[in-house]
Amino acid sequence: MDRALRVAVVGAGPAGIYAADILTKAAPAATVDIIDRLPTPYGLIRYGVAPDHPRIKEIITALHHVLEDPRIRFIGNVDYGVDVKPEELTPFYDAVVIATGADRDRELDIPGIELPGSHGAADFVSWYDGHPDVPREWPLTATKVAVLGAGNVAVDVARILAKTADELLETEIPDNVYRGLLASPVTDVHLFSRRGPGQVKFTPMELRELDESPNVEVVVHPEGMEFDEGSLAAIRARRSLKMCVDTLQNWCARDPRDRPRRLHLHFLQAPAAVLGSEETGVTGLRTETQELTGDGSVRGTGEFTDWDVQAVYRAIGYLSRPIADLPFDATTGTIPHDAGRVLDLDGERVPGLYATGWIKRGPVGLIGHTKKDANETVTSLLADADTLPAAVHRDPADVLGYLDQRGLDYTTWDGWKRLDEHEVGLGSPHGRKRVKVVPRHEMVGISRSS
Ligand code: NAP
Repeated sequence: MDRALRVAVVGAGPAGIYAADILTKAAPAATVDIIDRLPTPYGLIRYGVAPDHPRIKEIITALHHVLEDPRIRFIGNVDYGVDVKPEELTPFYDAVVIATGADRDRELDIPGIELPGSHGAADFVSWYDGHPDVPREWPLTATKVAVLGAGNVAVDVARILAKTADELLETEIPDNVYRGLLASPVTDVHLFSRRGPGQVKFTPMELRELDESPNVEVVVHPEGMEFDEGSLAAIRARRSLKMCVDTLQNWCARDPRDRPRRLHLHFLQAPAAVLGSEETGVTGLRTETQELTGDGSVRGTGEFTDWDVQAVYRAIGYLSRPIADLPFDATTGTIPHDAGRVLDLDGERVPGLYATGWIKRGPVGLIGHTKKDANETVTSLLADADTLPAAVHRDPADVLGYLDQRGLDYTTWDGWKRLDEHEVGLGSPHGRKRVKVVPRHEMVGISRSS
């Protein structure tokens, strides 16, 4: 390879930033532009990690360090595939790495799922994390709420719904989120797992955290606390699962405490229908009791229960968005690839195009797992370096000139530092680390001011 690689990474979340970091370490002459549709970097960490998880948000410190590298440039507020077509940027780069993650809700095909008051967890997470593209107001009017799913997102959503607004005041939640949560009359949050306690997807620390609020009593309902051979084998094989089961059994056995809000955990209850009408909105949730089949799977028993709830949140997994003109497998919700090399729908390689992170392998695993992914993708890219279709416009200034010419109000790393400082300034008089700015035009205005 006799040229310094010019690479675009699409997506400034952990997956994209890790890929840029690994690439510039392995190929020191390479330069990378990280392009994001949001005006800010950090993707899921800023807009997916719950505000009361400051420890996970601390990963930003390491990502910030990567973005300080002069070989890596952040270009925000540019929606690849929408504001600029992939082929428009091809002349500026030798290779493009797609790292756009997964930020939509997986669909749940049950009657009533579209009723007012039935929500996707991803939308709610975006709201409480102050995402600029969701409405400012969230209808928190229900006293009893159902959360579907037994993963960490379901746990996040149930915890944020159950905690009082004042418990979250020390976090970076925007003012509109604080006010929304303050007005919430919720008393009971019911989390439903369709399988047993031996098949949960959440992790021990996140589970135990549910019990840390002085205002919330966690109630484990004994009816579904069942184990078959498959469950016992899974518990023996995974320490983290055993820790979850031990915690659940302890909570199930303890005496109830009198607290203003309750968070109920139900097992072996699969969602069957959301009840209500367009006029009333959600008035209930129907679940079907499941039984374990011996191998850890479940089957319906034909026995149904109607739960009195006025809102339903499905937290049954995330889904990636397809990018216009790029291959996408709608069944798996991922970009087809071979070791990170993007394949078209006939299985042929698309020269110069790579994928990493959740859009490559699906929305599973913790943030750190995307490093392994990025390693594989970057290894493939560098192995292909000599055969990549070479960029025509190699000067890094060229692509900015093109975006200017297109009239796009892109944001930069310096712009993010301005917005960052502004948000920290909003928080400090109140003893808070930051208060997020939500409206996109304000974020862009602050970022682009000089
Ligand atoms: P997840 O871990 O895959 O959990 C999805 C849950 O939805 C599972 O319990 C699954 O049950 C259930 N489900 C799927 N389809 C369903 C259906 N039709 N009806 C009822 N339930 C259904 O996904 P996630 O919670 O979205 O999390 C995504 C990733 O982000 C995970 O790796 C997670 O650990 C990570 N994350 C981590 C944190 C943290 O570290 N604090 C926070 C948030 C997210 P089955 O098992 O029966 O399919």
